[in-house]
Amino acid sequence: MGAFSVVTAPEETCPHCGSRIRRGVQFKYGALWANRYAVGDPVEWGVGDAGEPARLVQVMGDPEPCPVCGDEPEWVYDIVVRDGVIVSVERGTSDPYVGSDDYVVVLEQ
Ligand SMILES: [Zn+2]
Repeated sequence: MGAFSVVTAPEETCPHCGSRIRRGVQFKYGALWANRYAVGDPVEWGVGDAGEPARLVQVMGDPEPCPVCGDEPEWVYDIVVRDGVIVSVERGTSDPYVGSDDYVVVLEQ
């Protein structure tokens, strides 16, 4: 039972070991009881919810270590949730989230 959920990012190359990997990305939006998501899954609600449902939301995600070498990258991920469904997980920066609650930015109510 963690206070965050995890979504599996699309395949990428680890900058440290060069392996093709699919890492987990931790985030806080929706129910917070260690849900495991893939792109295309609807966000679940009902337990320790973070944020509120909206039409278009961008959530900052923290990368989990490379499953091959354990390297922890310094970048963050942008998780886009449209109409309650995770539509993309891509590398981003923390800039859009400065001052936001729980690193969630509502783009469309
Ligand atoms: Zn690696």
